[in-house]
Amino acid sequence: MNPNHYLLSLGIGILLYGFAYFMFHDVYVHQRIPILRNFSNRYLRATVKAHLEHHNPHAHYNYGFLIAPVKYYIEEFSRKKETQK
Ligand SMILES: [Zn+2]
Repeated sequence: MNPNHYLLSLGIGILLYGFAYFMFHDVYVHQRIPILRNFSNRYLRATVKAHLEHHNPHAHYNYGFLIAPVKYYIEEFSRKKETQK
């Protein structure tokens, strides 16, 4: 493989990560552009809740970009079951 292909692959990966970060973090979570709101998807709601707590100065912690601590998913999935009863 030509060394330029490695660099191109690296550049495309960085571009895709940047696009995903922009769409999830800036557009969806922080609503910098008022689109993509109010998804009923439990994974997205749990991840957004974890991200907003990440910004809370009293509960500041680090977590994966699109993977929140398990407690947020358990909380979100449990709440959904309770509302269906
Ligand atoms: Zn943020």
